[in-house]
Amino acid sequence: MSNIQSTERPHTEAPIEGKDPIVRFKNISKSFGDLQVLNGVDFDLYPGERVAIIGPSGSGKTTMARLLMTLEEPTDGFIEVDGRQLWHKEVNGNFKKADEKHLHEVRGDIGMVFQHFHLFPHMTVLKNLMEAPIKVKGMSKAKAREEALAMLEKVGMAGFADQYPARLSGGQQQRVAIARALVMHPKVMLFDEPTSALDPETVGEVLEVIKEIAKDREMAMLLITHEMSFARDIADRIAFFDEGKIQEEGPPSQLLNEPKTERLGEFLHRFG
Ligand code: ADP
Repeated sequence: MSNIQSTERPHTEAPIEGKDPIVRFKNISKSFGDLQVLNGVDFDLYPGERVAIIGPSGSGKTTMARLLMTLEEPTDGFIEVDGRQLWHKEVNGNFKKADEKHLHEVRGDIGMVFQHFHLFPHMTVLKNLMEAPIKVKGMSKAKAREEALAMLEKVGMAGFADQYPARLSGGQQQRVAIARALVMHPKVMLFDEPTSALDPETVGEVLEVIKEIAKDREMAMLLITHEMSFARDIADRIAFFDEGKIQEEGPPSQLLNEPKTERLGEFLHRFG
């Protein structure tokens, strides 16, 4: 089975020449008890690049995202964001999170959009967007409000600023969740199956918003998705994840049309 390691420079249309990765997974393993979920993942994401991660359910994609957000800790290996390590391995072999100040900065570099929106239910749409810039960045209320309204405009939700999340459709809530991540101006946007909890009729509006923001080449994007045609349209590179590691990666045209491994061929037959 071919296993293209990401130490090779990936094909990409993103302007990565001479740049260091913004996110680096090096030999990452993760077990939950006896269950080994990740098994030596090497993965680099470059500034401005968009990478789609595809693969069967249970193959460890969400675990990878959660490790990047420091919601889980690795069993082995290391993760860097913008050259800064998220964990230190201590002499006794245990992992220790970097100190809170450091993690605070790193988390500020990453915007995450989950499958289930996770908006603050007791806050209006506008307040949902103003919360982090004020609390985390110390932005003034007036400035946070101005930026929030501009971002809502961008995702087509300006008319809903004073609504509470429960009044919105799933697609609208997800657009607000995307805007909420974007107001922090992250260096990396991480999407974990952003449309899989939506009614079919609202999937398109969310994918359109993601395509629109993907025009911003300042920001890197990592998308875990089952939407193959979307991955084909948007990604510079697709990584196929199975059995806890990246089995194949390459530009969409190559990976989706000429899979090298039988597993990817079977997967595409089912989902493509
Ligand atoms: P994917 O996103 O590819 O569907 P996940 O990363 O969600 O895969 O899950 C990979 C495997 O890890 C699954 O078998 C899942 O049940 C298991 N798993 C994930 N989180 C935990 C946890 N906190 N405790 C135990 N097992 C977990």
